[in-house]
Amino acid sequence: MVRSIIKIINKYNAGNFPKSDEINLQSNENPYPPPKDVIDAILKAINLVNRYPNPEYEELKIGISEYLNIDVKNIFLGNGIGDCIYNICNTLIESLDQVTIPMPSYTMYVMYTMLREASLNLPVYPYYDINFEELAEISSNSKLIFLCSPNNPTGNSLSLNGIRTLAESFKGYIVIDEAYVEFASKSALKLINKYENIIILRTFSKFFGLAGLRIGYGICKDYDVVSALEKVRLPFCISQISLHAGIAALRCIDYYNKIKEKILRERELLFKKISKLEKLSVFPSDANFLLVKVENNLKLSEKLRKRKILVRDVTGLMGLKGEHVRITVGRPDENRALLNALKDIFKN
Ligand SMILES: *Cc1c(COP(=O)(O)O)cnc(C)c1O
Repeated sequence: MVRSIIKIINKYNAGNFPKSDEINLQSNENPYPPPKDVIDAILKAINLVNRYPNPEYEELKIGISEYLNIDVKNIFLGNGIGDCIYNICNTLIESLDQVTIPMPSYTMYVMYTMLREASLNLPVYPYYDINFEELAEISSNSKLIFLCSPNNPTGNSLSLNGIRTLAESFKGYIVIDEAYVEFASKSALKLINKYENIIILRTFSKFFGLAGLRIGYGICKDYDVVSALEKVRLPFCISQISLHAGIAALRCIDYYNKIKEKILRERELLFKKISKLEKLSVFPSDANFLLVKVENNLKLSEKLRKRKILVRDVTGLMGLKGEHVRITVGRPDENRALLNALKDIFKN
């Protein structure tokens, strides 16, 4: 018999996958291909796929430790952040433990918390404008808090002072998902040394443009937590090809920073142009996507899909009132196509 909790867990919604002629602005991926060095590393690694990768993944961890200037022993790995979240839930949550997840945010936290039969505490903060003093109070009995900064889908970064306030008083662990942090102006990484109860999650899926290869990692000062997470993850959770691509990507930071600058310029341009449209309100973003509120239940994502552009309809996400779409910042040609489609939709 399948466990009864499985029946009430909603399947993760990964959106519509694009047909070949559709412009995909719905999954917050990096729209640019990997640099030549990463492609060369992948081609070389193809010849090694008869072998298991070394499960210690030492070279990858050293690369990450140099990238972030943190100690190798504070790093744990996973098959993307999704896998890290799953392992964190398995490692830290007993059934009936309370877990706090401010909403609206990423639904994967809820999914794997439920799988542990934990008790969910889901306070709503409109547009993720978290009141940290209040959050500290209402989560004081929780074992774990999941935060996301910049948050998906609202795009805002959390205040470091707010996180400090919470970390000072909170007895459990605070997970901060920083999947988009390279596009943002601040990171909680500098709090790691002071607060052993903070766990930061990072990925190669966004800034490093390797969503298809599945590499995630986390950082925590508490060595008990890091060693537990390194123990419970699948020993070969990162494939031989992904491992070599990840190591190479960390040596191409200049390439990725140039791409980031392009994406940030396009983000500001899209923000400005979308702000001018009467029926849409766009929220400032610290990530590579924009949250847009749509007036009058226009079913904007369907109208855009008819024009071969995919955006994510996030209407109905707990804590978002009314129609909202999340739009990934694409390449200039893709963003132009989006703006033209919006012009066409709102021409009357
Ligand atoms: C895209 C995204 C991730 C990345 O997940 P991976 O499993 O590493 O691809 C993590 N968290 C949030 C909030 C995201 O939007």
